[in-house]
Order: sequence, then structure tokens, then C-alpha cells
Amino acid sequence: MSRFWSDIVHRLTPYVPGEQPALAHPIKLNTNENPYPPSPRVVEAIRRELGDTGETLRKYPDPTARALRETVAAHHGLRIEQVFAGNGSDEVLAHVFQALLKHDKPIRFPDITYSFYPVYAQLYGVAFDAIPLNAEFGIDIDDYRADGGAVLLPNPNAPTGRALSLAEIEALLETNPDSPVVIDEAYVDFGAESAVKLIDQYPNLLVVQTLSKARSLAGMRVGFAFGDAALIEALTRVKDSFNSYPLDRLAQAAGIAAYEDDVWFRETCAKVIACRDRLTGELQALGFEVVPSAANFLFARHPAHDASTIAASLKEREIFVRHFKLPRIDQHLRISIGTDAECEALIGALRAVIVG
Ligand SMILES: *Cc1c(COP(=O)(O)O)cnc(C)c1O
Repeated sequence: MSRFWSDIVHRLTPYVPGEQPALAHPIKLNTNENPYPPSPRVVEAIRRELGDTGETLRKYPDPTARALRETVAAHHGLRIEQVFAGNGSDEVLAHVFQALLKHDKPIRFPDITYSFYPVYAQLYGVAFDAIPLNAEFGIDIDDYRADGGAVLLPNPNAPTGRALSLAEIEALLETNPDSPVVIDEAYVDFGAESAVKLIDQYPNLLVVQTLSKARSLAGMRVGFAFGDAALIEALTRVKDSFNSYPLDRLAQAAGIAAYEDDVWFRETCAKVIACRDRLTGELQALGFEVVPSAANFLFARHPAHDASTIAASLKEREIFVRHFKLPRIDQHLRISIGTDAECEALIGALRAVIVG
């Protein structure tokens, strides 16, 4: 604390990211990173951009990330004016709060969801209503009937992993025609259907995506928003009042290459999905209740073992999972899907903790 702090800094409760342990070989199942590396084409593209001398780094990158946005627009069948690129989707979401969600009515998001949303709301002075998930940790679209406020939902939701169908998203858009509806699709490639195909029909729809999860590029910080050109223009106006060059040269080159290797992308997703489904059965066999997941993580609780105690026992074995000390979910663990070997090590450790 300091008398030099601004009033808002005094009042902030910052987001706490999952631990990045300083160990040689931790089993890191706590931040939903992809356990597989990005496509070799991504590595080649970064080397090419860097060259032998790093000469290109002397110059600023393209402030509009045009080549990257063109690649992604073509991938989704969109026009470049419908694509915004930012330094990770966290930054994109921050701009969304400032550019599109700050109105008179409180915005609405679930009570159990990505814990960065309330942090942005506080930072930007955006009032919100947290709408309770149902008893199965599902989102009931009926709870989001038009009340004039904007809607922000991850699909699949985090940290539950549950997905809404495209029909449910469309119903949400139908019942909220006069408010922005933002769908955060950080995990969509692991088992949900993207709402990108609805963009031409709904001028109030904004879809946010990231290269951090399914495309194995959390370390590059590349995120997107897709929507009507007017929504994208709002984000661009905020970006150009904040940081003209959010994406560096290497990130732009890597992002383009990530979309050029669809085979790698689909194989990586398939491996994660297969491991997720196997791990679900193995956790259930140990007595865990597991929420059905369409994401690259599982949300599970054991009726007879305290979640924070399990997490601490795993940590002693250098296995890291995420435990949120929050209402309704303080007995749950969020377990990211690792490689097959990492998931086996997890099950072995859990068996020792639970069966003894
Ligand atoms: C991981 C995650 C993000 C942020 O991703 P970055 O692009 O790495 O900033 C956004 N939303 C949700 C729901 C996430 O889980």
C-alpha cells in the first residue's frame, strides 16, 4: 500500500493466475495449457520471422495484424473487418468490457465462471449480476431473458467444462436482440460448436477465441474477437487508445502458421479429447463425481476427501491441479488434461491418496 496509489488501485482485487512452479519437471495440470507443442510450422515461422540476425525486430510490427487477421478471417469464412486481434484473449476481453459492456444496465454472467470477468468489471466500473448455475452446474438460457443488460458466457463454461448447444446460443441471441451477447470460446475446439457461423445473422454477437488452449500457444499471447464490423470497430478504437502494437512480430507470424496446419491442430485436439474421456472414467472409478466436460479439463469432487487436502497431497508429488476457494465449488478440483503419461501419473497419485 502506498499514498501514491490511485483510488481504483486501492479497490482492486486482481486475478490470481494458476501457479507456474519453478521445478524441472512438474506435472502441470492447473492452467489448462495444451500438453502438446504447437505445430512445427509455427516454430519454422518464428525462425523465419527472426532471421539470422533478428534484423526484423528493429522495426515495429504491423499495428493492424492484417496478414494474421486475413488468415483467420479466411479460416472462419469472415471478412477481415469482422476480426479483431489482441495480446491474448484476456486483453481482448478487457477491451470488450470497456468498448461494449459498459452501459447503464448491469451485465450478466454465471456465478461460477471465468474468474477474470468480475476483475475486469471492477477495473472498468461495469456493474454485473452473477446468475447462479443450476444444480448440475449448467447454464439455463431461460435465466438470461432480455432485461436490457449484456450477456457474457464462456462456451464451454470454465471451470465446469459444460457446453451449451448452438441452438441454445441462438435462443439466447433471439431473446436478447438489443444487448451485446459475448461468447468466450477459449475451449470450443475440445467439444462445443462455435457460434462464429451466426455472426452474419446477429449484429449483437461477439465471439472471443484464443490460440492459448487448442493451438498450444499460451506463451505467444494471441486472441481474437469475431463479430459485426461495428463491434470490431469499437474494439479497435479502444486498442488504438491503449496500445497500437499489441501483437509482436513473432506472435503474428506464429498465429498465421498455427492456422496453416489444420492436421496438427485436429490431431492434438483428438489426443486431448481421448485422454479426457479416459480420465473421466478413471476418476469415477476412484469415487469422484465428474462434471461432463467439453473442454480440456475436468471439474471433479470426491464425496469423502477434502479438495484442498487432495490438491496439497498431489503438490507434494509435484502434480499441480487448480483448487478455487470459492462458494459452491470449494470441494471441486479443476484438472487440466495432460499427456497420457501425465494423466497416468495423476491417477497413480490419486489412488495412493484416496485408496492408500
Ligand atoms: C484461458 C482463458 C482465456 C484467456 O486466454 P488467453 O488468450 O491466454 O488470454 C479466456 N477465457 C477463458 C474462459 C479462459 O479459460
